[in-house]
Amino acid sequence: MDRTGCWVHREDVLPAYGFVDGDDLLTLVNRSPRFVLSPEYAPTDLVEVDTGLPHTPEECVPGHLQCLRSEAAGALRLMLDAMANAGHEGYVHSAFRSFTRQCEVFRGWSHSQGETFCHAVTSSAIAGHSQHQLGTAVDLFTEAWSHGGEMMRPGFGCTSAGQWIDAHSWEFGYVLPYPMPLAERAPGSRCRRRSGGEDVIDPRTGYRYEPWHLRYIGVEAAARFHRAWLASGPDSATEITLEQWIRRERGIDADVDLPVCDGCSCGLCTTFHDAAAPVDAPRSSRHGGSPRTTGPCGDQALLIGADGAPLANTATPHIESLQARREHSGVRVLVTVSIPARTVTQTPVTSRVAAVYGPDATYLSVAPFNRTGAIPRAYDDLRGAWRLALGPRRSTQWPWRAALRASNTPMWVNGANQRLPALQGLVTIEVVIPPVGDGVRAALVRDGHVEGPPHDAPIR
Ligand SMILES: [Zn+2]
Repeated sequence: MDRTGCWVHREDVLPAYGFVDGDDLLTLVNRSPRFVLSPEYAPTDLVEVDTGLPHTPEECVPGHLQCLRSEAAGALRLMLDAMANAGHEGYVHSAFRSFTRQCEVFRGWSHSQGETFCHAVTSSAIAGHSQHQLGTAVDLFTEAWSHGGEMMRPGFGCTSAGQWIDAHSWEFGYVLPYPMPLAERAPGSRCRRRSGGEDVIDPRTGYRYEPWHLRYIGVEAAARFHRAWLASGPDSATEITLEQWIRRERGIDADVDLPVCDGCSCGLCTTFHDAAAPVDAPRSSRHGGSPRTTGPCGDQALLIGADGAPLANTATPHIESLQARREHSGVRVLVTVSIPARTVTQTPVTSRVAAVYGPDATYLSVAPFNRTGAIPRAYDDLRGAWRLALGPRRSTQWPWRAALRASNTPMWVNGANQRLPALQGLVTIEVVIPPVGDGVRAALVRDGHVEGPPHDAPIR
């Protein structure tokens, strides 16, 4: 815990249902508590990038000795040669980092650089959650860039070297897992921010734009990813990142998982407690036998089962009241919902003002609310997630949906189809829908099914 009271829950860093396999080139390692590397994990085939000579994980410390797994290092040398032929002398800033080293890096971000834990968590990975521990990730710049000051300053992606890496790294088995968030891009550019765009976390990856961070997944897999990325529609709302591609390859649903300690960083309290962990397990005992109610999010934390999916809640939300009134652009619907603790919901989230559905938009083709120029995207049902559904009175169609949360949630979460913790208690959600005749109908849906009786109301 830091001085602002933000911290990460132990269960989120040490999941009871096991760590991921670091030796697997396509393993998912992200900011969520589901996909974590063991503190003991280190590759057994680390070599120094330049020489290809084997070294132990302890010897491989960035700044002193840059190491990658043997296959990734061979591919990087080929890529550096090709870069040099294109006129760019590559500079490896950081490659393999052990769990211990990542701890030090993170501590550096959160303390010596004067940042808080929660700020650090948005910029640096918590140990166990870094792709650098895989021995296949590298932060690659150029010599010229390295002499220009702080390495991770903005703009590298738009240098000719940055654009070369973006265009060619896949040919060598490397991919860029953390592209610029879609909503922040200047039209027609993947490296330049639109005016007013911000350096925010990409809802698809849980990370900010890192045009220097490359991960080796193998030449064949990188070619398959590249084809899938092209097919997904670059610059459209359905553009995938490595995260979404691996999830599809491995049958993992949703676009992304909630990050560890996101409650600190973006107003969403999103710690997943592990409900499957016995209360008397050693790592829980320090919480005095009640691990389920501790942590930064208290009982707003979501519960996940051994398979990583949210556990069904025995208490279910229900609609308390429904009102609808005519406005110039359509019908403003106000639905008050009683929501028990630990209810899972999903995007799209409405803003403090309301979610506004355009004339032809449905939840399967809605532009993320309150984003100028946002491209429509679909929000398919995610297993176990509750949503508010709206339709014309007496209809069985529910073309408009909204998350069981509103207000303080940053709007960029709508950039991904993802599970979120619902708000708790009596919550009023406002949605503006197109004109629908003389009345509206509201219901709560889970897994695409209406749960509980629908409510009808006339339009006033
Ligand atoms: Zn990196």
